[in-house]
Amino acid sequence: MCGIVGYIGNRNACEVLVEGLKRLEYRGYDSAGVALFADSHIDVIKTPGKVSRLESMTSGVQAARIGIGHTRWATHGEPNTVNAHPHTDCTGNFAIIHNGIIENYSSLKTKLTLLGHSFRSQTDTEVLAHLIEEFYSKTRSTEMAVRLALKEVNGTFGIVVMSSSEPDVLIAARRGSPLLIGLGDSENLIASDASALISHTRNVLYLHDNEIAIITRDNVSLKNLDDEAIEREAEHLTFDLEQIEKGGFDHFMLKEINEQPETIKNALRGRLIDADGISKMGGLRDVEDKITNARRFVILACGTSWHAALVGKYILEQCANIPVEVDYASEFRYRNPVLMDGDVVWVMSQSGETLDTLAALREAKVKGAPVYGIVNVVGSTIARETDAGVYIHAGPEIGVASTKAFTSQLAVLNLINLLVSRRRRTISAEQGRAIVEEMERLPEKIEQILGQRDEIEAIAEEFKDSRNFLYLGRGVNFPVALEGALKLKEISYIHAEGYPAAEMKHGPIALIDENMPAVFVAPGDSTYDKILSNIQEVRARKGNVIVISNEADGRLKDLAKYIVQIPKTIDILSPILSVIPLQLLSYYIAVKRGCNVDQPRNLAKSVTVE
Ligand code: GLU
Repeated sequence: MCGIVGYIGNRNACEVLVEGLKRLEYRGYDSAGVALFADSHIDVIKTPGKVSRLESMTSGVQAARIGIGHTRWATHGEPNTVNAHPHTDCTGNFAIIHNGIIENYSSLKTKLTLLGHSFRSQTDTEVLAHLIEEFYSKTRSTEMAVRLALKEVNGTFGIVVMSSSEPDVLIAARRGSPLLIGLGDSENLIASDASALISHTRNVLYLHDNEIAIITRDNVSLKNLDDEAIEREAEHLTFDLEQIEKGGFDHFMLKEINEQPETIKNALRGRLIDADGISKMGGLRDVEDKITNARRFVILACGTSWHAALVGKYILEQCANIPVEVDYASEFRYRNPVLMDGDVVWVMSQSGETLDTLAALREAKVKGAPVYGIVNVVGSTIARETDAGVYIHAGPEIGVASTKAFTSQLAVLNLINLLVSRRRRTISAEQGRAIVEEMERLPEKIEQILGQRDEIEAIAEEFKDSRNFLYLGRGVNFPVALEGALKLKEISYIHAEGYPAAEMKHGPIALIDENMPAVFVAPGDSTYDKILSNIQEVRARKGNVIVISNEADGRLKDLAKYIVQIPKTIDILSPILSVIPLQLLSYYIAVKRGCNVDQPRNLAKSVTVE
């Protein structure tokens, strides 16, 4: 998920790599490292923390003309020195850097251990180094060894491999993680992102999935995994650096909204068992019984994570028939909360460092409850202090207003729901399979919604000067209404309130007039007819109605000024889709109001104060 740079040429490789890694820092990472070839061997230098630390550790290193560098965003194993990349095989002949996740690393590790390989790190990546070593012992060709190794691997990767027995070549390959080669004059570079290349060259070759690049100082050749040569014309980069860092989007928030088809795939990857209609999560394996037999779940979170938790309550109570209490972490810790025997506490935080959530975690532990985490950042304090947990694998989230982490949290809550519901037998295998099937379709459905960005932007244009907004939803989409209102407040500074739609008549209806936009989240679920009546009530008072729905019936068309159509899915998954138009709406409104979308005033990404 993070940063890759490789260099082969006649300059000081270390300097080129460190400079490239600095350009990739904006992506967020937790450790950095380089491998350099000089004097017939490979030296690896790595450290947790910032590239500046790596820079001071490598100052004065001058001899190498070939090397690879990496910024890691941990997915498997804490961010420490041993787990940082590059990784090496048993002999130190190979060094490898990797972005992505090797799904079947655990079975490969068992096999390789039986063959005598010894592992140093907890990463999935190290498996690749040993697998390449294994194939090299049979083929004596690095290129062939990499190709054969990759055939054994499930998951996603962008990798670069170097070897001291073939020191004039870098081998790169990708499946699902971007890589591009920068073509220079008697030198070539490789990177996961053009920003690391652009100060050296604008001529690039993009690597496609399941392709290998064999890169020497003066030549680059491409092959597929079946060893067939591939011809590709070089492209000329015309973007500037800032555009590249944001992947061509104007803001990180928009980039992250658009990453959601991918981040949902990453949250689900390797965790759905189609045949049995159930899920499995490595981090919960040892506590599955405890979770299944829990008498109650208590989910503690703050902000956007609290909204995700509330969705979780609806889903788990409906399917798993388990009582769920959701609490603000900050409230929980100060109100002498009652925890009973059989309670399982979940703490949820994107950063894993949210101080209120951390304090609530500690409080729950003092009270003797088992505490499990749902966290994005691997090795974060919450991840370390919980008894077990699940990573949401959303990748670094840079925009302060959370978007992709929210939908990934929902995906993981659905995985937990599937596990618990099936194990408690509150849903059948057939129902489980139907849920799995729908979960697998989410990425393509999210794509469809993202395709409507222009229509959503037009709605933003019309309402950008409104002073108040009301967001209304029912059932599992009530928390989505809360989240929609929060997104708008956070980045556009417009006052917005989220309410359960039926509660409107108990107060907020007094606010409605012709200036007040009301956004209804109204997919065609069991509350659809009721919500239509709520929409009528707003219309009767001349309110402007914007509806997010997967229904297109005539009644809705008559009532709503705007309808954003989202694809149909099952009720428990609908928040993952219905929130996306709301993210886009707040984004476009904020942009049109000239607000600083990625760094809204007064807000911090990781809230480490009480
Ligand atoms: N899965 C690998 C690890 O945890 C790579 C992570 C990354 O993409 O930075 O080490």
